[in-house]
Amino acid sequence: MGANVGQMIDVLSVTPEVFPLIKTGGLGDVAGALPGALAAQDVRVRTLVPGYRTILKTLRQGRVAAKFDMLFGGSGRLIAGRAAGLELLVLDAPHLFDRAGGPYSGADGQDFDDNWARFGALGLVGAQIGGGLVEGYNPQIVHAHDWQGALAPVYMRYGGNGAAKSVLSVHNLAFQGQFSADVFSGLGLPQAAFSLEGMEFYGGVGFLKGGLTSADAIVTVSPTYAREITRTEAGMGLDGVLRSRLDDLYGFVNGIDTGVWDPATDAALEAQFSPALIKKREINRQALEARFSLEADGGPLIAVISRLTEQKGIDLLLDTADQIVGLPARLIVLGSGEATFEKGLLAVAAKHAGRVGVKIGYDEGLAHLMQGGADAILIPSRFEPCGLTQLYGLRYGAVPIVARVGGLNDTIIDANIAAVNAGVATGVQFWPVNGPSLLEAVARMVQLYKQPAIWRKLVRRGMKTDVSWRRSAEAYADLYRALIKGKTN
Ligand code: ADP
Repeated sequence: MGANVGQMIDVLSVTPEVFPLIKTGGLGDVAGALPGALAAQDVRVRTLVPGYRTILKTLRQGRVAAKFDMLFGGSGRLIAGRAAGLELLVLDAPHLFDRAGGPYSGADGQDFDDNWARFGALGLVGAQIGGGLVEGYNPQIVHAHDWQGALAPVYMRYGGNGAAKSVLSVHNLAFQGQFSADVFSGLGLPQAAFSLEGMEFYGGVGFLKGGLTSADAIVTVSPTYAREITRTEAGMGLDGVLRSRLDDLYGFVNGIDTGVWDPATDAALEAQFSPALIKKREINRQALEARFSLEADGGPLIAVISRLTEQKGIDLLLDTADQIVGLPARLIVLGSGEATFEKGLLAVAAKHAGRVGVKIGYDEGLAHLMQGGADAILIPSRFEPCGLTQLYGLRYGAVPIVARVGGLNDTIIDANIAAVNAGVATGVQFWPVNGPSLLEAVARMVQLYKQPAIWRKLVRRGMKTDVSWRRSAEAYADLYRALIKGKTN
């Protein structure tokens, strides 16, 4: 337990995604799971989210908590309500959020060109709530997520009343919210904010940069990623800023929602199972073989569930797919993303029908079944702030094969001889992140798979790893309390 549990504190989470209401990736999972995990640490979280159509539809018993006559070009309301077990504050501003498409882009896949205003508004309202906008609600911490929430700490720094402290979580430094300088005047910030110490970034406006220079504390989602991003190679232009904030930079590994992801109760599985009943995974594997039209023999079944981008190393997968199949092993891929990768994967599936199956799209249920039926889950990311799929893999008995970067390094114990002998191995790691080393790792997995006693131990050990939010929730709660007391580090 955290040191200071007992004194209830209030935290406002400012986020563009929150599972299960709206999610495009790990950020949504984290924002959705943290409130529940923090409740056990006596931290009460309310979540400020944009009033996308889908969210307004699911909101129950909403009441108007604030009104805005003019918010970035139109009027808006703040609606307090509950949905999916979450306490929400929804920013209902139709001119910004009532539109078709995803949270950041239209049906054509193009980013909305007023994203600066949409998430400027989110940050502004987050900062105002931190300053006491909502009657009877005085959060001591405003916890903003990624560039979309990052203006909350900026508005707090340049115009707040100092009532609340700010935390900025960086889920992926690759998404920085860069805009041209001319949007700055529309943000209503003092000129001082458009500076090197503020949000000016190479002549433009950097939302994430502003958050990084303004937040009282910065949290990334694993200790390794926290170190990596202070170096030029992984800093994506912001490493200097991050180095200047080393004393305020933390790395807490994400957990997973062990209620949603529980192989013993998961309705998306063909057969539920537990560490004592791993044989039942075979029923799920057969279901996958049917779903992807695979031959039953052909080696272990390796799954990939991913955004199809270069970050995720999908090009390396394409380069090595022929050799992976030849090991032999079988491959199933669920994902969507860059068109060349989608096409490339479909071509591999056509070439190796019966050995490789590819489903382009987003399918939560199938993702669960793949974790519960595949022998291994492959994550060849070039960088990975934390990664969730390897954690689901651990819990569901799909042995993770991972690049040794970021959170993948912090959450998987490589099955080298020492670790196997000590009975602590949970997966296979590789480095450097390139085709030959990926292939070598998959071959190593295939060798382990051929030794049933060792393999079973590997699977069980992974399934018993604590991948819950408990430990990280303690770390967040301790950080919040230290900030409130004015004592960090
Ligand atoms: P990132 O946030 O960078 O995409 P993470 O590993 O942190 O990567 O989180 C990815 C999340 O999205 C996981 O919950 C994973 O299961 C899910 N996911 C990714 N692609 C798909 C897909 N095509 N269908 C279903 N779930 C997916």
